[in-house]
Order: sequence, then C-alpha cells, then structure tokens
Amino acid sequence: MKMRPGVEVAGLSDVGCQRDNNEDSYAYWEPEDDAIFQRLGRLAIVADGMGGTEGGQHASRIAVETLLESYQVADSADDPQQRLINAFADANASVHHQAQENPALRGMGTTLTAIALVANRLYFAHVGDSRLYLLQAGELRRLTHDHSLVARLVENGIVRPEDAEKHPQKHVLTAAVGVTDAVQPDVPDEPLSLERGDILLLCTDGLWGQMTDSEIVGLLSSKAPMAACRALVDLAKAHGGPDNITVQVAKIV
Ligand code: CA
Repeated sequence: MKMRPGVEVAGLSDVGCQRDNNEDSYAYWEPEDDAIFQRLGRLAIVADGMGGTEGGQHASRIAVETLLESYQVADSADDPQQRLINAFADANASVHHQAQENPALRGMGTTLTAIALVANRLYFAHVGDSRLYLLQAGELRRLTHDHSLVARLVENGIVRPEDAEKHPQKHVLTAAVGVTDAVQPDVPDEPLSLERGDILLLCTDGLWGQMTDSEIVGLLSSKAPMAACRALVDLAKAHGGPDNITVQVAKIV
C-alpha cells in the first residue's frame, strides 16, 4: 500500500494475557490513486467483536472488511462523513445477514470505530465501546461516547465514575454493529480541523480499560506511533491484559 507523507500511522493488536483468541480487528487504508486520495483521504478502523466462541472474531472482521470496501465504492456520497455513515450501514447489514444465515454465528455483533482523514479534516463514525482520542497541545480529548450500560449508569448518576471500571456489567453494550437490522453511528456535527503535532488514538476497551488517561498521554507524547503502539499494548498487558488489545495511532507530521 502507498503510504504518503503527512501522517505517520501504526497499528497493533494483541490477544492479551488471558484469552485464547483475538476477537478484535483493525485496518488502515490509503488509495493508490492520487485523485481518489484527494477526495477520500485515509481510513483507519478498529472493531471489537462479541458473540459465542466463533462469532466475535467473524463479526469484527466482516465489519472492518465491509466498511473498507463500502467506503471506496464509487457511487457512494461525495461527503466523506456521509460515505462513512453509508459504510456503517453496509457493515451492519453484512454482519447481521451472516448472523442470520449461520446458526453458529447467531447473535454476533461488534463495536466499530472509524476515522477518515481528508487533508487536515477529521471525519469519524462510531458504535460501541471502542474509543477515539485526540491528543492536541498536551490535552487528551475523548471524541467518542461509550455505548455501554455502565456509561449510561454513570451519566445518570447511578454508578460513580470511579466504580465503573469494576462494574460486573461493564462489557454490556447498548449499541453494536450487526445485532439488529439497522444501526445509527455517532458522528461529529462537522469535521474537526487537525494541526501538525496532533495525535489520534483508536483503541478497543482492552486498552483503555487497563490504563489511566495520564498513562496514555505519557506514552503517546513521548514516542513515535509504532513505538507508542508497542508501549501501550505492553502496559495493558503489564496491568493484567484480561482482554484483547488493539490500537492504532496516527500522528499529523
Ligand atoms: Ca474487548
């Protein structure tokens, strides 16, 4: 794949310390064609599958592959944000269809978080409890909202934020791709403008659930993207690594 200057990107996925299989998937894409690159930019995706012994890994892989394909389809929308929304609908339909067709995969679903970087504009779409962070001028901002039961309980004041991590139902999602016949991703009101030095982090809960924001800031700001991915995964594992861990880091250079 052609990798152009302007953004340094790295990704890493690890099964973690306690699981036998990795149900996370991720992908990065840049078009070969420069004219298409001007319009569609770069795409980075993470997904965290769930459902049975087989379903989880299938769901995340199908969702990532379908999203990648659909985002590139020539007759989709001109606007990258609408293109992402259309691609999420296709990914949802694809996972849902296969879950209906195959009894072993019934009930499978996946989180799905995707960014499109077109020139200096950031578009994204998100379902589930994987996360997108922006480190800008030393400040870490989370750009996505967790679609989880515990996040809802915290918002409603029923669970204290400091207790959310240990909540027995912290893995229960309130929205996922492929579980029903339609999905509505969260999207920004308008694209964000990025500047040189900005760092984006896409990750599954196996990463963010195992470390503090200040640990994330420390590693992201002191290391190049590939080294940061390695260090983030290593730290999540040093903290127990109970879940699969997937990260993608993109730095505007
Ligand atoms: Ca997970």
